Amino acid sequence: MALYGAAASVLSGLEAHQGSLKTLVYSSRFQNVRQLYALVCETQRYSAVLDSVIRSAGLLETEKKLKPHLAKVLVYELLLGRGLRGGGRWKPVLSRHKARLQAEFARLKVKHCVSRNEDLLESTPGAVKVVQLPRFVRVNTLKTSLADTIDYLKREGYSYQGRASGLDELRALEGKRFVLDSLLPELLVFSAGTDFHKHPLYQAGHLILQDKASCLPAMLLAPPPGSHVIDACAAPGNKTSHLAALLKNRGKIFAFDLDAGRLAAMATLLTRAGVSCCEIANKDFLSVSPSDPRYRQVQYILLDPSCSGSGMVSRQLEEPGAFSPSQERLHALAGFQRRALSHALSFPALQRLVYSTCSVCQEENEDVVRDLLQQSLGAFRLVQALPLWPQRGLSTFPGAEHCIRASPEATLTGGFFVAVLERASGESPAPEPQLLAEGPVPSVAPKKKKRPRQKALPT
Ligand code: SAM
Repeated sequence: MALYGAAASVLSGLEAHQGSLKTLVYSSRFQNVRQLYALVCETQRYSAVLDSVIRSAGLLETEKKLKPHLAKVLVYELLLGRGLRGGGRWKPVLSRHKARLQAEFARLKVKHCVSRNEDLLESTPGAVKVVQLPRFVRVNTLKTSLADTIDYLKREGYSYQGRASGLDELRALEGKRFVLDSLLPELLVFSAGTDFHKHPLYQAGHLILQDKASCLPAMLLAPPPGSHVIDACAAPGNKTSHLAALLKNRGKIFAFDLDAGRLAAMATLLTRAGVSCCEIANKDFLSVSPSDPRYRQVQYILLDPSCSGSGMVSRQLEEPGAFSPSQERLHALAGFQRRALSHALSFPALQRLVYSTCSVCQEENEDVVRDLLQQSLGAFRLVQALPLWPQRGLSTFPGAEHCIRASPEATLTGGFFVAVLERASGESPAPEPQLLAEGPVPSVAPKKKKRPRQKALPT
């Protein structure tokens, strides 16, 4: 019962906007957070379907003491999950209603002409259609190497399949099989649901759990070691730690964020990741002076400003309306994004800038970039980012296809947008991004047996 009760209170907390799904799960004090998270996500995914079945079966009318959120969790387990394994006093109650609930569920499928449970998500109004994404894991080269990480995981029973040749291989991953991403160096890909939160390599900062799309901004900014970089809206810092890895901790990152709480989390993250080249400031980026001598060598800026988050898969479960933020909200966000981009472009030594959002709304993406390019009067140009990337910017202005878009359907990632801008008249053009890892890609060819290497062990 404890699991079902905990899941019901997370669902009720989500509805009351008391926190994000992850925060509520972690603060629930339920020991097996992974089990709880999975149950809440799945119940939430089928929420509209469950509501419909519960309503047609008249469950809440008959069982007046049964709270709606608990009913939803119990009915999920009964019809779609592993069957009621606990349930306390509600187990016999649900058993009495089982036949009726099953009949209503079957009726719903007939009504929508589907046979698979998943297909109900397509056809039930209000249901959340969440594509299961692979688990992407970035190897933190400040602490370890790709080869050592692969060796370590193989010794733990994971099976390395080499570099993937395309998305189909990522879709087909199951169990303990994993691959190297086809486009991004140092990005390992595991089957959906693989959980590394308790893994010693994650806890020691060797692995960073980061969606593939969110690895694009730092990779495309590609600051060479020794350079000076601004991360304008930096917390909680996954992209900052990626920048530090690209810099090999040589040079400087000036990281700003308005939110002190998020910066505190970022400081922990950076320490764990072994980042030593970053100066963090709790500051409004718009108030950072481009003429301050401290920033006179800044040639690279990463701007990942606050956005609607309409591309975030977890957001869809937490806030089904997040996909379509209101016009007022979009207008306000785009206003800030334009100001921040305009400000970033005014840094005198700037050569290359990456603008990114986890939004799928044109107003926050192509429209912002188009306006700022126009405003810059030719001083900056849009660079064709990662030509092999399959999904491009919406063709709303000439050159918009140089931008990158990402989505669960097309790229098996969260919804994302990236634009790379370069100074058109730069005397010393910024070096091109290194796409693939330097050195050989670890292959699956059998190697000589080695003694376990200590380097990848967490400290
Ligand atoms: N780049 C981060 C990462 O990869 O972990 C995520 C950044 S998040 C999308 C946007 C951040 O911008 C938030 O942490 C927010 O507090 C910060 N922010 C919003 N307005 C800001 C401003 N005027 N100056 C600096 N940071 C700001």
